[in-house]
Order: sequence, then structure tokens, then C-alpha cells
Amino acid sequence: MATQADAQELAALRALSASIGQSPHLTQAAGGNTSLKAGDTLWIKASGTWLKDALVDDIMVPVAMAPLLKAVEQRDRAADLPQGFTIAALNPRGLRPSIETTVHALMPQRVVLHVHCVDTISLAVQADGEAEVARRLDGIEWAYVPYFRPGLPLARGIAEKLRPGVDVLILGNHGLVVAAETVAGAELLLRRIRSLLARPAR
Ligand SMILES: [Zn+2]
Repeated sequence: MATQADAQELAALRALSASIGQSPHLTQAAGGNTSLKAGDTLWIKASGTWLKDALVDDIMVPVAMAPLLKAVEQRDRAADLPQGFTIAALNPRGLRPSIETTVHALMPQRVVLHVHCVDTISLAVQADGEAEVARRLDGIEWAYVPYFRPGLPLARGIAEKLRPGVDVLILGNHGLVVAAETVAGAELLLRRIRSLLARPAR
């Protein structure tokens, strides 16, 4: 069961998720997702739900993290079907976790935000996109992951690029991932990365 501290963070994450979901620069339709790790359980936005509804609807679904990460490590195609890892007893509505659940599980930090940030995508698709991102994110612990189909391929691509301390991922032709130990920390980091990437090109 979630502790009181977990419950408070989950409430904070729902508020932040609703705010992120209201920005068309960050998410479009049912895109983007957020998560919180509570012990061995990953609470992640359900597939097909909208972040903007996070305060008025139950959009978070509990997933057993350890077996999912094991599937990624073993290149088991079960990792492409994260609904197989939901914790049924905590999921009375039968929500299905996002295909991007493995992105969240792989980041060691408690709180993960994944957005299809327009500024990030438009910068990262340029011919020298990775070098330009590198200039702008100087001093940040970040990693660039080239485009892979979401699911097991993207999970493997991230696993290959992750190193200790990385809390920002630029996903080529896809979006942005930021991670922190608290919801407030993740919100600040998202704001900081967005402002660094949104500057006009030199
Ligand atoms: Zn995505």
C-alpha cells in the first residue's frame, strides 16, 4: 500500500499532470505521460487517458516494476505489453498502462515526466540537432536517444544510453523525459530544460 508521503506526491503529480496536459506545446491529445514510483509499484498514466483530465478522472494505473524491467533486460517481448504487469488488486477499473511505461520504469528517479515537447522535437530533428542540444544543455546530465518505436525497442535504446546521474533524455523525433526525486523537482527541471531548448538559435 502507498504511504502517506506517496499519496501526497501522487496528488501533487496529478495536479502537475493536469497543468502539463493543458499546454499544447507539451502534449497533444492523449500523448505524454507522467509517473511516480511508490516502493516497487510504478503509478503511470493509463493508455488512452488525457493528462489534462488528471484531476477530474482516475488516470493512473499501478504496474509491478521489477518483472517489467526484467523483461526489458531479457529482451522479452512481454515488455511491449505493459498491461501484463498491472497490479490487478489496485486497478479496479482495469486501466491499461501506456506503451511508454518502460521509459518511466527505466529511470531510477521517483518522478518521471514525458512530454512531446514541440521545442524539443523541432530542435532535435535538425541536421545538427544533437550538437545544438548539447550546447544548450551544457552542465545538465542528459542523454540523447535516437528514434525507436515505443515499447521494447525504445526501452532498449534508453537502457543503452542511461548512465548514473542522467535525469534528462532527449528522444529523437519524439520528445523529452525529465526525472527527479520529487514532483516539485521534476516540475522545476522540466521548466528549466524547456527554457534552455526554447531559446532562439544562435
Ligand atoms: Zn512519447
